[in-house]
Amino acid sequence: MDKTKELFNLAKRYLVGGVDSPVRSFSYVGGNPLVIKSAKGSKVFDYNGNNFIDYSLSFGALILGHAHPAVVTAVKKKISAGFSFGTTNKTEIELAQEIINAIPFIKKIRFVNSGTEAVMGALRLARGYTQRDKILKFRHAYHGHADYLLVKSGSGLATLGISASLGVPDDFIKHTLIAPGGDIDYVKNIFRKYGQEIAAVIVEPVGGNYGVIPPDSSFLAGLRKITRNCGSLLIFDEVISGFSFHYGSLAQVLGITPDIICLGKIIGGGLPIGAFGAKEKIMRYLAPLGNVYQASTFAGNPVVMQSGLSTLKILKKFKEDYKRLEKLTNILAESLKKEALLRKISLEISYYGNMFSLKFKEKKQFSGFYKFMLKQGVYFSPSEFEANFISFAHTQKDIAKTIIAAGRGLDKISVVH
Ligand SMILES: *Cc1c(COP(=O)(O)O)cnc(C)c1O
Repeated sequence: MDKTKELFNLAKRYLVGGVDSPVRSFSYVGGNPLVIKSAKGSKVFDYNGNNFIDYSLSFGALILGHAHPAVVTAVKKKISAGFSFGTTNKTEIELAQEIINAIPFIKKIRFVNSGTEAVMGALRLARGYTQRDKILKFRHAYHGHADYLLVKSGSGLATLGISASLGVPDDFIKHTLIAPGGDIDYVKNIFRKYGQEIAAVIVEPVGGNYGVIPPDSSFLAGLRKITRNCGSLLIFDEVISGFSFHYGSLAQVLGITPDIICLGKIIGGGLPIGAFGAKEKIMRYLAPLGNVYQASTFAGNPVVMQSGLSTLKILKKFKEDYKRLEKLTNILAESLKKEALLRKISLEISYYGNMFSLKFKEKKQFSGFYKFMLKQGVYFSPSEFEANFISFAHTQKDIAKTIIAAGRGLDKISVVH
């Protein structure tokens, strides 16, 4: 009896497509998605008694791997002291302090419940601070599901986006400009035309939602210069990259200081979180000090704060181990490339820090490979466009096992073709 199939059929009866978020549905690779029973370290376990090496890691939220014992203990203790108070609590002060110490260019932070909310808060703040309406985002960048960010490029050279989802009125996106990523001249042209109306440019300094796109420092430095010259703010969406590559933001590694940073994923240690921060002068515009309204029932929840705080403390203590993650990622990516080359299969592997993504020439090669990897106990993110991650819990043995499995998976593909 296949318990996964049984449970997923039940899920489809009550949840739309059996999921609460579309990429989970395996619509890209086909077949039934995993239904996970429990997880520990680098592994997830299903209801059939299978285990999988997990490279999806809740889409990048679990840098310590699953259920780190010290985080579990601290969260258990915290939860028995009450779930939510709707007041300031000590743990949120401590997490704020920890993050600000690690990312010194921000002086104040606001916690929210998701990366989407962090971006919405940051953009409202930027618009309130500059008293301007327009924002600029890049093609293929994902910043959560706010209406005015669900835009795609119009035809030709149009810089005004068009709606990428039913239910988003054109009026809601008329202030969203869109440019191809990495093209600084394009951005300059937009600023020549609209510069004085642009509140902010929002960018993922490392692309994580259209395959892994390593940071382009000169492009980002160009954005810094253009926004500064025009009185617009630069927002780094570091919901994925924050604390992923070292103990702090990617902005610090690149030596480029944005005006506002958005965080999420890792800083909650696996519980739902988001945050945005900036220098004092900007953050003062936020209610209750200023007139930019932003509020939430559960923001700063003590249990979430504890999960984040314990995670960050472990990361800080073992910060030298970030290098190990980078090395493991490099070994895995280069070995997969070699295995593909050996079989004359075109497989592009893009990687940076602890992130990597796979891209075959044809989608059906990916889905074939993907399913065969699952059978062998390796769980990648279920789309070529989603990033994969290596956590502190991944071992050399996990990597070695993955490389052997990938060799077999690639054999299958070369037989089919
Ligand atoms: C995941 C992600 C978001 C959205 O965060 P949610 O917690 O899913 O709302 C925003 N921006 C980037 C870069 C992300 O990777």
